[in-house]
Amino acid sequence: MLGIGKVGWIEKDAPVAGPYDAIVKPLAVAPCTSDIHTVWEGALGDRKDLILGHEAVGEVVEVGTEVKDFKPGDRVIVPAITPDWRSEAVQQGFQQHSGGMLAGWKFSNFKDGVFAEEFHVNDADMNLAHMPKGMSLEQAVMLPDMAPTGIQGAELARIKPGETVAVIGIGPVGLMSVAGAAILGAGRLFAVGNRQVCADLATEYGATDIIDYKKGDIVEQILKATNGRGVDAAIVAGGSSDSLGQAIEITRPGGTISNVNYFGSGDTIPIPRLAWGNGMSHKDIRGGLVAGGRLKMEQMVDLAVYNRIQPEKMVTHVFDGFENMEKALLLMKEKPKDLIKPVVLLE
Ligand code: NDP
Ligand code: ZN
Repeated sequence: MLGIGKVGWIEKDAPVAGPYDAIVKPLAVAPCTSDIHTVWEGALGDRKDLILGHEAVGEVVEVGTEVKDFKPGDRVIVPAITPDWRSEAVQQGFQQHSGGMLAGWKFSNFKDGVFAEEFHVNDADMNLAHMPKGMSLEQAVMLPDMAPTGIQGAELARIKPGETVAVIGIGPVGLMSVAGAAILGAGRLFAVGNRQVCADLATEYGATDIIDYKKGDIVEQILKATNGRGVDAAIVAGGSSDSLGQAIEITRPGGTISNVNYFGSGDTIPIPRLAWGNGMSHKDIRGGLVAGGRLKMEQMVDLAVYNRIQPEKMVTHVFDGFENMEKALLLMKEKPKDLIKPVVLLE
């Protein structure tokens, strides 16, 4: 990112590992819709000459003197969020905000990201996970961000077995929310999107009803389908600045609204007063940045290895080599009909 609305290539000095850190060479990377918000909406404010990217798997090239569990040559999964584990926020239970709000998200936010020949990982023993032998790069690179973000959407929604759930937005994040909601035991499961490729995979991941937001108001469609009752939980995983309000409207009193969307513009996000019971509906609104760290990555590995999730099915476009990085990033901006998620292989 050269500045708001501008991308290109830059030369930087090679990163240096401190005693607890690692330097990693990427083997596969993926652009995220968040990179698009960051560059083209300037959602984090201006950033000059910042290396983008926070979804990578790679090979360790160097470790600091105090790193115990990783060595050069190891193949690793690198979480999008790499907290400072020795922090007050971690002790409060929110590793994502170590060092300040959203500051656990370092790559492509507070420090150079992973779209580089080599990148720096702080606290390697706490932040890296070993990539299992035999795991495909396409599957592995869906684990740093897409799987844990989407699944967190379902966790924040506090789904209980048999409950009715709606996922608004079924790009790669929302698709993983659908999969997460199914794992947590959703009964009826609405998925809101438009593109057929996403709707088909949502059905495969466990959605029972596809709601097309281009074919009418989603609030009306979901309330009609539930005889006016609404859903127990709504997960916002995409959409527009109206999506949170719509989620409140479709959720029953006492239900939960969970947000993992990154609202990229506007100073406020509207809450519909009456649908929120004039402030007294007991509808719980929650939202969070994806968790990072080693344990979370190891849990994602197990979900994939034991076939609870199949995130590699979201990979619709595979490129080879850095020279195709910009093409992959722009695909994520343009969202053509046949795209869910592009991946760039660098091995
Ligand atoms: P996509 O753009 O791929 O998917 C967005 C989805 O929203 C699509 O299904 C799209 O439908 C749908 N949509 C668009 N407009 C509307 C609308 N008006 N009403 C309802 N649905 C609509 O995004 P991703 O899945 O890649 O990412 C989703 C969000 O999650 C992004 O904001 C991203 O930045 C954020 N994110 C958050 C993270 C976190 O830590 N919380 C981590 C990673 C990402 P269609 O395309 O079919 O028209
Ligand atoms: Zn992301």
